[in-house]
Amino acid sequence: MIIGHERQIEYLEKIIRRGRMSHAYLFFGPEHVGKFALAKEIARVLMCPNKNKIGDAGDGCADCRQIEQDIHPGVIILDIEHTLVSKKEIRKDIPIEDIRELKRRFSFAPEQGKWRIAIINEAEKLSAEAANAFLKLLEEPGARTLFLLVSSTYDSVLPTIVSRAEPLRFSLVSDAILREFLEQKKISQDQRESILKLAAGRSGIAIRSVEDPSYFIKQKKIRDEIESILSCKDIPSALALTERVAKDKEMLKTAADFLIRSLRDNIIATILESKTYHTKVGRLKEIHRILSIIESTNVNPRLAMDVMLMEALTTNSTNSFVYGFRL
Ligand SMILES: [Zn+2]
Repeated sequence: MIIGHERQIEYLEKIIRRGRMSHAYLFFGPEHVGKFALAKEIARVLMCPNKNKIGDAGDGCADCRQIEQDIHPGVIILDIEHTLVSKKEIRKDIPIEDIRELKRRFSFAPEQGKWRIAIINEAEKLSAEAANAFLKLLEEPGARTLFLLVSSTYDSVLPTIVSRAEPLRFSLVSDAILREFLEQKKISQDQRESILKLAAGRSGIAIRSVEDPSYFIKQKKIRDEIESILSCKDIPSALALTERVAKDKEMLKTAADFLIRSLRDNIIATILESKTYHTKVGRLKEIHRILSIIESTNVNPRLAMDVMLMEALTTNSTNSFVYGFRL
């Protein structure tokens, strides 16, 4: 399901209709706004004999079903979860083995009238070797071949790859559009506003909150806890939270995300008051830096969360104190 992004959808449908697709696109923009879902929708429109519009319900044909389940032989998905030959348990990136396998599979001509599509989700996670091997595929794509690269960070995808793909930017989805979706799902007003606050423009979080109430409860609990820690400058609770979220990478990312948003709000408020702006921006950058370390290395998550919470507590504090260690 895709919510919002009408301009991008209209553009993609137009070029598909006219047969004017480029051989590669880079969808970039915030996480959880539907970029990957849209890449799969494009695959369905190209593969299904009866589906012409992005977002239409599928006709239940084998192509639609296999794409939905990520098992279509002509639509290869690569990311941290989806692998071809590498073992996902032991890798932190998309390794060269998978790109070699992709290349081997794409060396066969596509079935009559069909496409070969590769969706590289989290394209920034291609290892350096994999990115270079992938570049060769991009340079000689072959007929009826489409590469859809998806990334939340435009700058961390190899520039030589970026330069060979048509970029398409995605933004957060407005509350008005998300509210409409929640109304259609018959969500009560209180719950609606709560989901909107949690999603903060990320449609994927709104959809998941509706589909999986336990996800919503878990996320909301962390958010409320962080709000309370920041407003009460409650360091013992901060350390207890760290202890808990450090065991679960998804929770850790959620907590980091709330801290970032809280700091952003705080910075905006500060700009309005024009006080200590640079110090706060510095702290926000520091949390972003730590988050990227968590993503790309085996740093101790508990230490990382401690540092992030302290950065946030210091930023939200009127009495600035020096916090002495860096990751
Ligand atoms: Zn179909």
